[in-house]
Amino acid sequence: MDHGVNRNLIVTDGKIEVTRFKEIVEDNSIKKIAMNISGGADSPLVLYFIAKSISISKAYDKEIYPHFMIDTGNVISNRPSWIPKQVDIVRGLFPDVTIHDLMTQEYRRTDDWDDTAERYIRNSGAKKYCDKLEENMFNIIQPDLLLTGTTRNLPSNLLKLYGHQTDSTGHIINAGKQLSIEQIPKKERSPWHKVNKRFIAHQYRKEGLMENLYPITESCVCESMGEVYETGGKDFPCKVCHQCIEKYIAFGMYDRCVAK
Ligand SMILES: [Zn+2]
Repeated sequence: MDHGVNRNLIVTDGKIEVTRFKEIVEDNSIKKIAMNISGGADSPLVLYFIAKSISISKAYDKEIYPHFMIDTGNVISNRPSWIPKQVDIVRGLFPDVTIHDLMTQEYRRTDDWDDTAERYIRNSGAKKYCDKLEENMFNIIQPDLLLTGTTRNLPSNLLKLYGHQTDSTGHIINAGKQLSIEQIPKKERSPWHKVNKRFIAHQYRKEGLMENLYPITESCVCESMGEVYETGGKDFPCKVCHQCIEKYIAFGMYDRCVAK
């Protein structure tokens, strides 16, 4: 049993086929693969499947360079300690694959930070901070490819079924800033560009990752978003940000395996 990566390296849930891992493994121009790990459920699963694809196809000329950009304004986040563990779990599963030391870079969204509140009071986006760090990473590692694990938002009809109202763009109301469809990276960059959290959860279960990897993923973004914090997301996980809502619908539980 190959647990989802079948012999031709396509990852599927029986409906949608993700072909990007096969394309990467078969592309001889790609040797150095940088991988942005954000700490949620999506990006370590990209790391898992790229490592698994290299292992199955014995494409050992390809090496993985995990990269983590820490938002130091998120003071209650477990990401700084959990992301190295996520990488270690994938290393342990595929010891034949070269996964380099995690490159870590720090930033703080100074535009959003409030000194009196000692937290973020708005979310104007991390892009301008991360772009610089990514450029630095490119200069140091010089990868042939950079991957991320961004997914699509869950469909409105499914969100409605769980009691969440959406606006005309399909974004959950009062759940913080959400990516528009144009902001989701193309498949060259994010293998998950056409799938959503349900597909991700399906792969976690199928690959046997619910016991080891899932408990150390952190999706809640309330701390990054002043407005969600203000509207009631004072616990962690907050259960009101869009990431919490999607994780609960897909996995049946929030971060830290909180089920209710
Ligand atoms: Zn949350």
